[in-house]
Amino acid sequence: MKPFLVAANWKMHGRKDMLKTWLEAFSQADIFHQQRGSLDKVGLILCLPAVYIEYARSLIDSLNLTANLRLGVQDVSKFGEDGAYTGEFSAAMLKDIGCESVIIGHSERRQLMGETDEVCADKFQQALAVGLSPIYCVGETLEERESGNDWAVISRQLSAIEGGTGFGDGLFSIAYEPVWAIGTGRNATPKQAQAMHVRIRAFLAEKLGQEKSSRVPILYGGSVKPDNAEQLFAENAVKGGLIGGASLKVAPFLDIVSALVKAKSEVA
Ligand code: PEP
Repeated sequence: MKPFLVAANWKMHGRKDMLKTWLEAFSQADIFHQQRGSLDKVGLILCLPAVYIEYARSLIDSLNLTANLRLGVQDVSKFGEDGAYTGEFSAAMLKDIGCESVIIGHSERRQLMGETDEVCADKFQQALAVGLSPIYCVGETLEERESGNDWAVISRQLSAIEGGTGFGDGLFSIAYEPVWAIGTGRNATPKQAQAMHVRIRAFLAEKLGQEKSSRVPILYGGSVKPDNAEQLFAENAVKGGLIGGASLKVAPFLDIVSALVKAKSEVA
């Protein structure tokens, strides 16, 4: 896994024509041509609605983007075996159609779909079991932050995924996404993000050991835009971003990627 990562979360947006336009523009970007090598340390993942995975796979392959863009989805079933689970998609099915990563525990799923820590943990284990790399989201509400309970919430969400086979081989990422910053236009300050990332890193080091945990990218998500990305990424514990609204158009998404490349260019 590369040390830095930017993941796009399209949520329930997009159509086939939008996806094609986005990927075609993406394949023409300077970052793959004039600025060769700038993505050596930066992984990119596009997380789409599940129905578009196969179409995206064929476009990514035909545009020769396979080495530069991984394909992710936004949910997976907590059930692993095939069976009577109407409407569900198993991790094995998603892998079968060319998916490589999955967002788990996004606050919209926790809040709107009632997903508990336990459900998120089951999904995390199902993804790891088939080699779909999870992006596990954690984050506190404004009320939890203001009452001083932010770390209690986040450490509880992190502890949930320790069960089962635990953290696997560390082939996952964590996205710190304060709920009050998602889609609100109000991002966490770089210092707030840094402080929480440092605590998450220490938690992982304790559970996984220094070496393995250092390979887990910890991303910040919540109203990242081209004009605030570089300051957020300049914080040394922030290893990338999970980008919602600003990923729907390729230009702002690539500006955010360039901000990460620039912010981390001095890091060995
Ligand atoms: C997200 O969807 O995870 C997210 C961070 O959204 P936005 O960038 O729009 O705040």
